[in-house]
Amino acid sequence: MGKRIQPLRKTLTKRSVGHNRNIIIILLICASIRCVDYIISEEIIHNKASSQMINVYNTETEKLMQLEMETYIAGVVAAEMPASFELDALKAQAVAARTFALKRMNTPNSNVTALYPKAQITTSPATCQAWISDDEQRERWGKDYIKWHQKIIQAVTETAGEVLCYDGVLIDPVYHASCGGGATESAEYVWGNAKPYLVSVPCNHPADQHSGVTMAISQAELMEKLDLQSNAVNVIAEERTPSNRLKTMLVGDNTIRGSELRNALGLKSTLIDWLIIGDQMIVTTNGYGHGAGMCQNGANYYAQLGYNYQQILQHYYRGAVVQKNNKYI
Ligand SMILES: [Zn+2]
Repeated sequence: MGKRIQPLRKTLTKRSVGHNRNIIIILLICASIRCVDYIISEEIIHNKASSQMINVYNTETEKLMQLEMETYIAGVVAAEMPASFELDALKAQAVAARTFALKRMNTPNSNVTALYPKAQITTSPATCQAWISDDEQRERWGKDYIKWHQKIIQAVTETAGEVLCYDGVLIDPVYHASCGGGATESAEYVWGNAKPYLVSVPCNHPADQHSGVTMAISQAELMEKLDLQSNAVNVIAEERTPSNRLKTMLVGDNTIRGSELRNALGLKSTLIDWLIIGDQMIVTTNGYGHGAGMCQNGANYYAQLGYNYQQILQHYYRGAVVQKNNKYI
């Protein structure tokens, strides 16, 4: 036997032995990555054996997915908040995302069912909240996939079944990327409906990537985008909300709402200032999003200061409490 094997060994050059060894090492690494994956997936399934399922319409693939609730929440946290954020910020995001999902399950939304009758929620942030699949997480994070994926699973499992309630009822857990630093916005100035838990609260994070974003627009372009006829008119802020967001402005004789200006110019927020220089209007915005509810960059800032996720949520949703609902785990 030895003699038969020997010639074969001789045919292997040093280089090919090294090459084969590299292939074996790569195969072992791939196998171990898959193994960790498997363990992570098993962990979710094991912990949530009796979990509720949710019908999610994937607006990318245009297909309906039936997902286990906590697995769905992990995909939302992965999509909605940078995984590099503090663990307690991710946990706050998981509770807000779960609350939103359960509200949608309890109350069918016509924008969702119009896309797919059996859908309870979609993967589009335009109508619901963003969601990404495991494959998209791998693509997004590359070599950091395992690290970030595990962190998100931890945030979800450590808050399993937890939701936000006010007076025993699920809240509307709106959130946004950044308030701009200073204060969040009251819901009544965003949607016209005041909610006791969606009032303006201080948010003292430092300047971030959404601070001081500027754009220039000519007065003629401004008039065109606002669908106004006249030329060379005064543009002045008429009224601001208590958190200094633009409520209304006067363009000549026309009253324009801050949200109208934001939409017309594609601005990141209504925390808007401007300068008129000659024919140009130089517009500066701070923050990203409507500004109501939880500020994600603020959540990360408060987590860095030592707030836990419950304290973060109670800061942004005044009077709301985190409750564990065993029905959902
Ligand atoms: Zn903020």
